[in-house]
Amino acid sequence: MKTLGLLGGMSWESSAEYYRLINQGISRELGGLHSAKLILWSVDFEEIERLQHADEWEEMGVVLTNMSKKMESIGVDGLVICTNTMHKLAPMISDNVNIPLLHIADATAQKLVSNGINKVGLLGTAFTMEQEFYKGRLSQMHGLEVITPAKEQRANIHKIIYDELCQGIIKEDSRKYYSDSILFLREQGAEAVILGCTEIGLLIEEKDSVLPIYDTTKIHAELAVEWMIS
Ligand code: GLU
Repeated sequence: MKTLGLLGGMSWESSAEYYRLINQGISRELGGLHSAKLILWSVDFEEIERLQHADEWEEMGVVLTNMSKKMESIGVDGLVICTNTMHKLAPMISDNVNIPLLHIADATAQKLVSNGINKVGLLGTAFTMEQEFYKGRLSQMHGLEVITPAKEQRANIHKIIYDELCQGIIKEDSRKYYSDSILFLREQGAEAVILGCTEIGLLIEEKDSVLPIYDTTKIHAELAVEWMIS
């Protein structure tokens, strides 16, 4: 089994999910007492969130790249960034290490494409919903047509992620807000919805969605398991 490095803590609520899902996957695949060989490096998310909203991506890139290089130097075979948003820095990290980085958007897109989905709705932080590193990658590299909620909805979806989900706060009103946003996406022609933030799966399940959901945390963790035992 390969050893995987998790760049986590963004937020720890979803990193805990990654830890559980990857261990469950390894146990399912290998049985007995098998468990995942992992190194989890968990940051203080308050520091990262401040830099995100101050648009200091270069500085965060240095932080995550240094973490990745150190993980490589202690023998990690591959890396997973446990957040969609921070994949904005994936190219910088990949350029600075000699181990693979398992990309969350590619894993998700491959699953959508193999299921015959063409037009997909995307929920996530404003960074993920609005910027090229994610939305653009899905369309340019994978040929998907990607739609997002309206501007005001995107702002509220973003706020719920930082003010509630990343702090472990689950509110019925917010669940309803996300469900209604998914309904809006279906009305715009989406055939499925990407839960493009690793905490959304804590709020929304299949039963809350009029569209089939593609939970990036689950898809990413599954890919990690397959890769670790390949
Ligand atoms: N975990 C979230 C994501 O998947 C949001 C927190 C962050 O900004 O990293 O995008």
